[in-house]
Amino acid sequence: APAPAPAPPAPAPAVPAAQPTNKVGEGRLQIVNEQQEFSRELPAYLSKWGLLDKGFAYDVVGVFGSQSTGKSTLLNRLFGTTFDVMDEAKRQQTTKGIWMCPSAYSSALVMDVEGTDGRERGEDQDFERKSALFSLASTEVLIVNLWEHQIGLYQGANMGLLKTVFEVNLSLFGGSDASKAKSSDKTLILFVIRDHVGATPLSNLTATLTADMEKIWASLSKPPHLADTRLTDYFDLSFAALPHKILLPEKFEEAVVDLRKRFTDRTRSDYVFQPAYHKRIPADGVGFYMEGIWDQVVANKDLDLPTQQELLAQFRCDEIAAAVSEVFATSSKAVRKPVEAGTIVDGLGGLIREWLKTATANFDVAASRYHAGVYQRKRQALLDNLHASVSPLFLGQLKNAHKAATAKFIADVATSLKAPTYDFAEVVTRATKDARDGFLETAKEVTVDDSGWEYEHELGLLDDDLKVIADRSRADETKKLVNNAERAVKRQLLEPVELALSKPSTTMWDKVLTTYRDVNGAAEKAYLSKAKSYNCTEEENAVALHTLRTRSWLVLRKKLEEQTADATVLLTLRENFEERFRYDDSGVPRVWKPEDDLEGAYKKARDETLALLPLFATIKPKDDELLPVVPEPDAAEAEHDSAAFDPDTALVLVTPTRLNSLESRLKREADAAFVEAKRSMVSSVSQ
Ligand code: GDP
Ligand code: MG
Repeated sequence: APAPAPAPPAPAPAVPAAQPTNKVGEGRLQIVNEQQEFSRELPAYLSKWGLLDKGFAYDVVGVFGSQSTGKSTLLNRLFGTTFDVMDEAKRQQTTKGIWMCPSAYSSALVMDVEGTDGRERGEDQDFERKSALFSLASTEVLIVNLWEHQIGLYQGANMGLLKTVFEVNLSLFGGSDASKAKSSDKTLILFVIRDHVGATPLSNLTATLTADMEKIWASLSKPPHLADTRLTDYFDLSFAALPHKILLPEKFEEAVVDLRKRFTDRTRSDYVFQPAYHKRIPADGVGFYMEGIWDQVVANKDLDLPTQQELLAQFRCDEIAAAVSEVFATSSKAVRKPVEAGTIVDGLGGLIREWLKTATANFDVAASRYHAGVYQRKRQALLDNLHASVSPLFLGQLKNAHKAATAKFIADVATSLKAPTYDFAEVVTRATKDARDGFLETAKEVTVDDSGWEYEHELGLLDDDLKVIADRSRADETKKLVNNAERAVKRQLLEPVELALSKPSTTMWDKVLTTYRDVNGAAEKAYLSKAKSYNCTEEENAVALHTLRTRSWLVLRKKLEEQTADATVLLTLRENFEERFRYDDSGVPRVWKPEDDLEGAYKKARDETLALLPLFATIKPKDDELLPVVPEPDAAEAEHDSAAFDPDTALVLVTPTRLNSLESRLKREADAAFVEAKRSMVSSVSQ
């Protein structure tokens, strides 16, 4: 036996995707860690900090400056945050990365950047550049922290940092597309001058710094389409000075409290969070937006903010749409069962409109803050999806309304036809209108505006159904009419025919056929006058009349067969003979006397009676006009009673053979009557 196939190698255990290990603690979050990974926790923290539902009512502030210039110390004092501060006693390094903490005094997010001071240590400036880019793309106010004694020293580290900020800004907003080189998104640079001694007034320092900034801006190598741009197209500059924290702690504290007001008091003219600086990212999109920005920064891709905003809008609008869709689905679930079970749910359209209103209102509140084009597009997509998701309810309701309308129609017609008198056409017209109105009421109610739903097709199907039912009912009614007409024919025909054939004469057939013609004519006229209200077609009337004529013919023919059966004919003719032979012309019974011409009387009566016999053989009026038109039977009738319809036999009632036999039987009976008469005469003589 072949050796069993070796077992396939066990699949490698799935390695879970490494989660970034960003640090958290004391109400702050390391949004970018030492490995330059972005935290997954930001949305959760924004929620924890009560900022998620703020819409645009929140602010972002960041900081920039050399290592160990007291940045974190300042932020903590200014905003009540808990960023790491270098421990003076141990000279311990703080944790690298970008940290975020909510302000204790307003709805502001504060970001602190911790990094090695690459410039001073001659290390690469990678992280510095990346964090600058990130800060510019996300903050309204960027605090540039510097010592007073650094001002005016171009070759100092600060100037290099600022050059970096400006260069980064050009790549951010300049791009290669001139149309995007607009200054719609301005950022406020707030210079905070530390250890301000006071010998040089702030106004002088401000002028120097402003002039320095202009120089740096001028020295940047700008792409051609940005050659004419000015610093103030992108930045507003603002200034503040703080005393030495260690030497003048109380003065420092006073100045910090005053500076804080510029971040919290909207009534101040130097309030820093002006609307023009806001990045217009709704608070619930900040997590996604910042992560996207950081990813782009890390990947060294051109940061295209408009595209980032659109991506953010798409992502958030999808999330918001998914949330409202879920609520919508839950609401609609409740009526799915009854609709599927065939119930017309009262006010279903109203319910659907209500759910749609709630869904779009909730969507609008959250999503309208995002990129207008994306928002409008996603709103339409949401509506389309919601409509599609409940369109089975719409179709189900239509189907159920159709069924109910049909059932109502059937019931209405049946009830109306029970009335002693009715106009069928009127009954159908009214019932059709009622059924349609009922359907339309439901259909219109459940047809939601702008959904693209339409009920015309279903209405068409209903109309078809109503017509089929009406036609069937009309056919039944027509049948009833024909039956009634046939009964009337029987009632009026049988007795006159019997009477005529019991008194055979040469005008017998004219009498029978005149009656037949009149009775038929009356029946057809009665039928047609009733059928008029049925909206029958010419063809339907022709069929009905043909049926009526066939039945009438059979009624006549059957009656004639009965009346021309051997026994009946014999009885009729014997009575006829006896009347002639045994009664005199005034109807008095004869008593034969020997001198009477018994033989002559017998012969006369016998021959006159026998002469009547052939009258029964064929339907043959004197007036040819009266000859009945034998209807063309349908196949079933033709087979059932072929003799009645075959043109060769239809008018024949007694065959020649039967005539012969009847004649001899009649003769025998006449002979017997003669013998009896003779005998009675002899006996009366002999008495
Ligand atoms: P960062 O690296 O810029 O965040 O600076 P830190 O806030 O960690 O502070 C670095 C050092 O500067 C600490 O030892 C602080 O005590 C000290 N420091 C803080 N504020 C001031 C200040 O206003 N003046 C001076 N001279 N030192 C300060
Ligand atoms: Mg720090």
